[in-house]
Amino acid sequence: MTDRPRLTVLSGPSGVGKSTVVAHMRKAHPEVWLSVSATTRKPRPGERHGVHYFFVDDEEFDKLIANGELLEWARFAGNRYGTPRRAVQDRLAAGDPVLLEIDLQGARLVRASMPEARLVFLAPPSWEELVRRLTGRGTEPPEVIERRLAVARTELAAEPEFDVTLVNTSVEAVAAELLALVR
Ligand code: 5GP
Repeated sequence: MTDRPRLTVLSGPSGVGKSTVVAHMRKAHPEVWLSVSATTRKPRPGERHGVHYFFVDDEEFDKLIANGELLEWARFAGNRYGTPRRAVQDRLAAGDPVLLEIDLQGARLVRASMPEARLVFLAPPSWEELVRRLTGRGTEPPEVIERRLAVARTELAAEPEFDVTLVNTSVEAVAAELLALVR
């Protein structure tokens, strides 16, 4: 098939700003369809069921897995996250572009099950910048920060597995690049 890939997966190290970029793009282009994931994480203030996530308990998540309703799922920071299969398939069947914003493990699983997907890696402008974002205000114990940085180092090493790399220099610029890839 010579068609452009319809399924775009945005992933990258945690803390790199994936959701900020996606939110920025969709503010200007709400027509770009973004898959809403299921998660066992508790909602943060302002997050709404069915909009930001489908918030489910462990038992419900187990059922989604058992019924084959998830295209992929992964554990992240003590919670589970997964992409509902049906909505994605319906969109793709209709020929609409689909965007997933998921972690690296999920991106690898999508690659394995849907090789036609285009995998986009969001990279930090520099290692120092990622360190700055991950350490935040420095209120966390050094061992927690150390662990995060070790994880970030291995996450950055995943870049060559991806089809495209976008460098998060500015939210505006990278949101425009993402839009061009998705549409
Ligand atoms: P947060 O809890 O901050 O909303 O998300 C934590 C991480 O989970 C982020 O890296 C986000 O991209 C990832 N994530 C969100 N939904 C999914 C999903 O459906 N599958 C996978 N594998 N990761 C997800």
